[in-house]
Amino acid sequence: MITLQSIYKSYSGIAALKSVDLEIQPQQTTVLIGPSGCGKSTCLRLMVGLAPPDSGTVMILGEEVNSQTIGSLRSKLGYMIQDGGLFPHLDAEHNITIMARYLDWNPERIQQRVGSLLELTQFPRGALHRYPIQLSGGQRQRVSLMRALMLDPEILLMDEPLGALDPLIRAELQSDMRNIFQELGKTVVMVTHDMGEAAFLGDQIVLMREGEIVQKGSLQALTRHPENEFVHQFINAQRSPWQHLEDSLS
Ligand code: ADP
Ligand code: MG
Repeated sequence: MITLQSIYKSYSGIAALKSVDLEIQPQQTTVLIGPSGCGKSTCLRLMVGLAPPDSGTVMILGEEVNSQTIGSLRSKLGYMIQDGGLFPHLDAEHNITIMARYLDWNPERIQQRVGSLLELTQFPRGALHRYPIQLSGGQRQRVSLMRALMLDPEILLMDEPLGALDPLIRAELQSDMRNIFQELGKTVVMVTHDMGEAAFLGDQIVLMREGEIVQKGSLQALTRHPENEFVHQFINAQRSPWQHLEDSLS
């Protein structure tokens, strides 16, 4: 579905990714996780063609991503940037439909699609004419999600979609997202720094550190067979405090 082959990417001579190899399986959720600055967002930017690799290739649906192919590939990719990236001067509906309008969809088709997205994301129709600043954090993320899904892309790329939300809203959106991904059968690549979220949403977890993939596999594989001390520590550092308490009591 998506393949990164021997990717090397630097910014001003400093390596952001060093020899990254990754295969994203169709209709699964792959979670990229790791400490801040390890190259998670850069991986997504490579996939959407926003950052060309210095060397190596990015393949999507059998095509190499480059300046010639990215135009047609983009319509198969839904991309949610960190912090949602909604246009502040456009209301929710306009944010959601901007690409469809650009592509000259007829108004009826647009309305139909918006209707099914409202249902899918459980967003109140009455809030469609609010501007991003007039929406709650959770509602803004739902609008970003609808925007990414508007053209019904095969692949959904999301960069810390739940990053800035408070814990209760975050939990609610996590479970809604899990249902949405299952229902739609999309190929999803999601960045997070939260191990609980990775465990909850990810079929495959890819743990990164300093521009390299340290280990990838299921949650069980990472917890039961950590390849090194970093993996062990990263996973355990993020277990909740009461989990440790429970372990010590049992
Ligand atoms: P993450 O998303 O895991 O926090 P990033 O992929 O954003 O990490 O960044 C990886 C590294 O590349 C970091 O050291 C970051 O400072 C650097 N970097 C990312 N984007 C740019 C850029 N546009 N210009 C210069 N350096 C960048
Ligand atoms: Mg990032």
